[in-house]
Amino acid sequence: MLDIQELDQYYGGSHILRRVSLQAEIGQVTCLLGRNGVGKSTLLRCLMGQLPAKSGSIRWQGEDISRCAPHQRVARGIAYVPQGREIFGRLTVEENLRMGLARFGGKAGREIPASVYEMFPVLYDMRQRRGGDLSGGQQQQLAIGRALVSQPSLLVLDEPTEGIQPSIIKQIGEVIRNLAARRDMAILLVEQYYDFAEALADRYLVMSRGEVIRSGQGSQM
Ligand code: ATP
Ligand code: MG
Repeated sequence: MLDIQELDQYYGGSHILRRVSLQAEIGQVTCLLGRNGVGKSTLLRCLMGQLPAKSGSIRWQGEDISRCAPHQRVARGIAYVPQGREIFGRLTVEENLRMGLARFGGKAGREIPASVYEMFPVLYDMRQRRGGDLSGGQQQQLAIGRALVSQPSLLVLDEPTEGIQPSIIKQIGEVIRNLAARRDMAILLVEQYYDFAEALADRYLVMSRGEVIRSGQGSQM
């Protein structure tokens, strides 16, 4: 279980996160909603260790990871797909996916799990193509696929539907639903597309101006 308690974060003089608390359980999809600029991505960057939080705690599977470096969080099974599809444009699809194996310390012999190609067949078809030659929707599938290569127990997705056409949104939704059904992974999903979040969420939280203003069961969204 992920247990974030009372995180505070500032940029310059402005208070961006105000005592934000959030829990995400294994086997559940937890959706974080809120308008542009309320601090959703900032919270995820604190979770991943890219921005040290000013105060508060982050516990994962009982361990306080607040002081762990980003790569140590990845090594503990936390995979992050940032907003805006960060992929390696000059590397092939397969090489991009191999980057996800870094979690295992570059151990020789590890292969890209077949399940990743089964979830996103386009990645198999295009495995020798350069990442930069993929369409936006295909790049998003690659970014999610690369996170799944690390076989995470916490998958953090920042607006995976942003700028994506409906058929691919549907496919990404099915992948998330199937992952949740395996009950061995916590999924934390930041989303602005309300219908998409509502269809997937076991629990939801709404942020406004750096604060969680509402939360509850997904069925009551
Ligand atoms: P969106 O839905 O548009 O992605 P968000 O909820 O993810 O929004 P954040 O990216 O977390 O919002 O930004 C929260 C606030 O922090 C915004 O006001 C933003 O302008 C500010 N901010 C974000 N990154 C920085 C930075 N590196 N330096 C200064 N201010 C920043
Ligand atoms: Mg954001």
